[in-house]
Amino acid sequence: MAKNYYDVLGVDKSASQSEIKSAYFKLAKKYHPDVNKEPEAATKFKEINEAYSCLSDEQKRKNYDQFGSAEGNPFQNAGGTGGFDFGSFSGNFGGFDFGDLFRDFGFGGSSARRNSAGSDIGLKLNLSFEEAALGVTKTFTFTRTEKCEHCKGTGAEGGEVKTCPTCNGTGQVRYSQNSIFGRIVNVGTCSSCNGTGKIAKDKCSVCGGNGSVKKTRTLTVSVPAGIDNGQQMTISGEGNSPAGTVQAGDLIIQIAVAPHKMLTRNGFDLYITVPIPFTTSLLGGSIVVPVVKGKVTMDIPPLTQTGTVFTIKGRGIKKLKKNGNGDLIITVTVEMPKTLDKTTKEKLESAVKDISQSSYTKCKDYENKISKL
Ligand SMILES: [Zn+2]
Ligand SMILES: [Zn+2]
Repeated sequence: MAKNYYDVLGVDKSASQSEIKSAYFKLAKKYHPDVNKEPEAATKFKEINEAYSCLSDEQKRKNYDQFGSAEGNPFQNAGGTGGFDFGSFSGNFGGFDFGDLFRDFGFGGSSARRNSAGSDIGLKLNLSFEEAALGVTKTFTFTRTEKCEHCKGTGAEGGEVKTCPTCNGTGQVRYSQNSIFGRIVNVGTCSSCNGTGKIAKDKCSVCGGNGSVKKTRTLTVSVPAGIDNGQQMTISGEGNSPAGTVQAGDLIIQIAVAPHKMLTRNGFDLYITVPIPFTTSLLGGSIVVPVVKGKVTMDIPPLTQTGTVFTIKGRGIKKLKKNGNGDLIITVTVEMPKTLDKTTKEKLESAVKDISQSSYTKCKDYENKISKL
């Protein structure tokens, strides 16, 4: 539902044109999407422009006053075609030129179109497991759109321009719309010259007249240690910067990390499951485990149960942009031999018969439970 235009601008119904203008400028400055990055700013900015576009025009304001606020508008239910179409004022932000707005506010004289940033470029960067874990410097090339240096972005050969015949050099075109109140004349930016009032005499021989060219760029980036698969790096100002943009877009690097052959990464911790022979589980021993770079040896104490988890602190991945490393987490599983010869079997029998039955705690517990069933 449309809001009351006086409320939107925060002025009295009796406000003078200069009060309306001053209120509008204050609000437009606050909510301009180039300045205010809050999500509601764009909507708010549109509302402000809509309100100003109506109230700054005496005839439109009179019509608006006569029908009261939008809530009381007798045409509200008449549908889009019959009712007073407030939307028609907002299509081009009321025909208001941002260039003027910014000149008034001291943001520089460029229009909104010329003030905008170029688009971002997305790039995928493949890293090995070690490169991501330890950090790496990568050099790569990519293509981006830049202002044509030959014509300085004008699109005109030799910089020679002539007056735009579409708008006769004004940079603006007027178009009228019929409404129930008669013809409403809107002013828009001339699309032939993008509002500059000038067009090329001859098209630039390098860029063909559009003022921009594709250029290959080589960049070297330092990828920080600890970066993970799926993360992004943003290099500001390395995106497209075609003619007409003041600021280049960003280069967004999507990181893809190859998995390790044996280790599983979760955050900065590394996981591995290692099978150990039942003799090691019984008598103790040592195992060799991989780390980010190389291998380490770890002792297995005697009587290690299957499923026991060992943590080697600080042998995981370096924490991204922080001090310290994650951990290496090792789970051991006990493997039984697949074959057993007669002699070994007899030796084992005599060796293990002296182990007290009560030391098999889980088996004991199970027997207790089953005897009570
Ligand atoms: Zn023009
Ligand atoms: Zn050119």
